Formats: sequence, structure tokens, C-alpha cells
Amino acid sequence: SGERIFSARCLPFRDRSGQNVGVIMVLHDITVIKKMDQVRSDFVSMVAHEIRSPLNSILAQIQVVRDGLAGGLTEKQEEILGRASERIRGLVSLSSELLDLARVESGLILQEREQIDLGEMLKDQRDFHCPRAEAAHITLDLLLPGPLMPVLANRRNIEEVLSNLIGNAISYTPEGGQIELSAAMESDYVRVSVKDTGFGIAPEDVDRIFAPFYRVKNDKTRMIVGTGLGLPIVKSIVEAHNGWIRVESTPGRGSTFHVHLPLGK
Ligand code: ADP
Repeated sequence: SGERIFSARCLPFRDRSGQNVGVIMVLHDITVIKKMDQVRSDFVSMVAHEIRSPLNSILAQIQVVRDGLAGGLTEKQEEILGRASERIRGLVSLSSELLDLARVESGLILQEREQIDLGEMLKDQRDFHCPRAEAAHITLDLLLPGPLMPVLANRRNIEEVLSNLIGNAISYTPEGGQIELSAAMESDYVRVSVKDTGFGIAPEDVDRIFAPFYRVKNDKTRMIVGTGLGLPIVKSIVEAHNGWIRVESTPGRGSTFHVHLPLGK
């Protein structure tokens, strides 16, 4: 079709005395770039989808062998198959996350929106993540200083945003640490924050962690498993809801991720 997509940049234009006399707007036709993005995204979805079913079938077959249905196993054989299953499960979750990202990027998620009370959602998320935090001897507190107005959003996606941020906070915080979830009104937005006392993120990595597959590799994080797709998914979802995400972090002290979502007026 003849649909075109533009990116717009606006700058205020002032005279010598600093008075605003107008706005300069530069429009850039990015239709071709967006179309290529779509092709790439469709391709990734297709590959991820095609890979997932054979992987699941391999997992099921290994399980049959591990259950002893094809004859008894030595301890060594069982151990090797256990490790193989572990790696395959990693690939299955990678393909699921690739599918999620492609879905978010193609704008499919915006179809169903409802009024959401983020305070209630945070309570549910805290309850859901509590066992994992407890097992790691990390406290998980929720701070709701006042009532919140609802946001208009896709429930499943916002759950994914919160779940990813809380999951990361648990993964990247050592034993004995603290995580604090909070939410508050900020003019026409609700701000949700996930604060941890974890490893923190070096200044040069702060912008990169939102790029697909980027993972910080150092002595502390090397053993933590992940795909590097969590934060790109989070960012795409938040931006698709006309919100934004920001991170403050001090290496060795901890990180705070702030998500702003517009009110559902
Ligand atoms: P994953 O956790 O699967 O590696 P993410 O996209 O969720 O992927 O995160 C990217 C990287 O950002 C992580 O590998 C980690 O290095 C860093 N990171 C994310 N959350 C935190 C956090 N709360 N504290 C410290 N580092 C974090």
C-alpha cells in the first residue's frame, strides 16, 4: 500500500533574546527501514517457531530413555542425557523469547488492552517470585505509598515486564540482598520501580543491556544463565505502551529499573 512511516525530530527555534519563535521539524522517511525490520522479524519468528517443535520432540525422546523405557542406564549415561536435556531446554526458552520479541516488535500485542491496577499486579508478582527470592536468601518487599490510578495496557505483557525485571533483580543480587518493588503516581504516569542491592551495572554497559543478546560477562555474572533477550522485550513492550524505561546503577551497590506507563484516560 502507499502507507509511509516517518520519524520526526523537533527542535525549538529561538531568536537572539531567547524567545521561542517556532519549531524546526525534520521528517525522515523510514518506510524502507521499517519494512526491512518487519521482514527480519518475520524471519526470526519463523525460524524460532520451526526450531521449537523438533527440540521439544528431542526432549521427550531423551526423557523416554532417561525413564528407562529403552533399557537401564548407567549413572554416567544418565548424567550425560541430563546435561543434554538442560542445554535443549535452554534452546527452547531462547526460541520462545525470540518469538515474544518478534511479536512485540510487530505490534501484535496492542490488540487487547484493559484498565490495570499496577499495585495489585505488583502484589501478585511479589507472591509469585517470593519462593525464588527466599531460596536465595533475598528479601522482596513491596512499597505502595498511595493509591494508584489504572493504566490502559495489555495485561500479559505488563506481567512479562514486571516478571522480567524482578527475575533479573533476583538473578543479579547475591545472597543476603534486598529487593524493593514500588509504584507511585507521577503526573500523567504511574512509575513502577524495581530496586536491588545486587552487582550493579558498569556505566559503559547501561545502554547496551537493552540490545538483543547483550549480556554483561564478568566474574560475578558468568555463571548466571540467560539469553540477553529479557530487557529488549521489556523495553519494546514499555515503548509500545507509550511509556519509557530508565535504569540507575552503581557497580557493587545495586540497580534500580524505573518503568513509566501513561494513565489509561
Ligand atoms: P539475561 O538476564 O537473560 O542475560 P536481560 O536482557 O534480561 O538478559 O539482561 C541483560 C543483561 O543486563 C544481563 O545479562 C545482566 O548482565 C544485566 N542486568 C539485567 N538486570 C540486572 C540487574 N538487576 N542487576 C545487574 N545487572 C543486570
